[in-house]
Amino acid sequence: MSEFSDKRVLVTGASRGIGWGIARAFSEEGAKVALIDVNEELLEEKKGEIENMGGSALALNVDVCDREAVKKAVEKVIEEWGGIDVLVNNAGITRDRLFIRMTDGDWDSVIGVNLTGAYNMTKAVINHMLRQRSGVIVNISSVVGMTGNPGQANYASSKAALIAFTKSLAKEVGSRNIRVMAIAPGFIATEMTEKLPDDVKKAYLERTALRRAGTPQDIANLVLFLSSDRASFITGQVYVIDGGMI
Ligand code: NAP
Repeated sequence: MSEFSDKRVLVTGASRGIGWGIARAFSEEGAKVALIDVNEELLEEKKGEIENMGGSALALNVDVCDREAVKKAVEKVIEEWGGIDVLVNNAGITRDRLFIRMTDGDWDSVIGVNLTGAYNMTKAVINHMLRQRSGVIVNISSVVGMTGNPGQANYASSKAALIAFTKSLAKEVGSRNIRVMAIAPGFIATEMTEKLPDDVKKAYLERTALRRAGTPQDIANLVLFLSSDRASFITGQVYVIDGGMI
């Protein structure tokens, strides 16, 4: 029996890419997984996939920017499963443009989903974890939140802020046995990176020592480790997982 058997895990942006990789990996380890995403069709498809594998899933068609909808979704998961053990704040978007051309909308939407979305989710879950006196929160940041990246002033800022959020919250809630960590992936093969121009993808690969893109499973492996009891003395840290890029 896996240590995740019957653990209750909430993953945002879970209908594809890294989020789906994380959700599936938890399900394979016996966890119940609540999938949050804005893509209703894909969400239902992925819920079905988990159920076909013999797992339990809830599909919640929610925009992480919608504070009221987030609160209701979290209440629904708690009502169904009696609690939440792990929250993975993974939902994220890019609106890449050089700063001089960046619009207010590009800025607001990226900060809104990547940072405020994680705030909304965490705010909705934290009181429950405090009462429960246990919990794990994993925030999916990015290496560009540490290095900066031309064309990504909005995205890199949101990802850097997630790291500061992680470190601050970890110091506040550690005494209640709640651990908070961030992961900073490098170049991972998903739809988010698929849409990049070929020369940009090539440049990322050339900067990656292992000369390959990471996979959602690579990220899921680290999330599982950090959520497990093997990581029970770890909190407030950010883990780079980039095949040797930075
Ligand atoms: P992805 O393939 O674009 O998947 C992101 C998922 O999040 C999509 O299903 C998307 O739905 C959903 N989503 C977007 N906005 C949302 C919202 N407001 N509320 C709920 N769900 C929302 O991206 P990914 O590559 O898997 O990235 C996942 C996370 O890893 C992101 O935070 C990203 O910044 C981070 N990351 C990725 C890489 C990489 O190389 N791929 C590197 C470092 C960090 P729709 O698209 O249907 O709107």
